[in-house]
Amino acid sequence: MNIAHRIQTFRTELPSHVQLVAVSKTKPENQILEAYTAGQRIFAENKVQELIDKYEHLPKDIEWHYIGHLQRNKVKFIIPFVRLIHGVDSLRLLEKIEEEAQKCNRTVDCLLQIHIAKEDTKFGLDTNELAQLLESEIFKNLKNTRITGLMGMATYTDVETQIHAEFAELASIFKDAKEKYFALNDMFCELSMGMSGDYRIAVQHGSTLVRIGSSLFGGR
Ligand SMILES: *Cc1c(COP(=O)(O)O)cnc(C)c1O
Repeated sequence: MNIAHRIQTFRTELPSHVQLVAVSKTKPENQILEAYTAGQRIFAENKVQELIDKYEHLPKDIEWHYIGHLQRNKVKFIIPFVRLIHGVDSLRLLEKIEEEAQKCNRTVDCLLQIHIAKEDTKFGLDTNELAQLLESEIFKNLKNTRITGLMGMATYTDVETQIHAEFAELASIFKDAKEKYFALNDMFCELSMGMSGDYRIAVQHGSTLVRIGSSLFGGR
């Protein structure tokens, strides 16, 4: 199967409320164009320089998402065009994004990354840190940054019960945060969870954004 076929297969399989985020990191521009020609418009990268290069060369109606760990000193390079930052994992990073978004006079959407995996290699906030962030003055005073949901990564494992438990936990954290902090705010509606190996489980637990790399473009 080629990339266009795989895109179509995902479109058919995914429920209509779930968006396909094509993770194009390390992949050449011709493969991205193949997906684009098949109608895909959302692409995600995890390195700032690679994202900038691809943004400059590829069609301007692509919606670029950033999915990696983002350093504060690099925020300014992607703020002029990035549509959604998936992995905001500190108040300081959020503060920086707001500052740069104000300078650009843009509104930037962000997801807060929650640590759900039982591995310490993955970034993210725990529930206390999430509460702290959502109760902070910085959060209350955001003007150019919108928190539109949460993101998380499950443990890399074949044990499906564990993946189910971790995505269920994230879904529950999302529901609690929505009720407590965003009850009057319809913008808080995205749950970014699921990759090539575990997106089916993520969709069962309410994912609205699946981040798919290798199942579309092949291994890295
Ligand atoms: C690389 C990456 C993906 C895609 O992973 P695949 O297993 O290739 O689908 C999704 N999310 C994040 C944060 C990634 O870094």
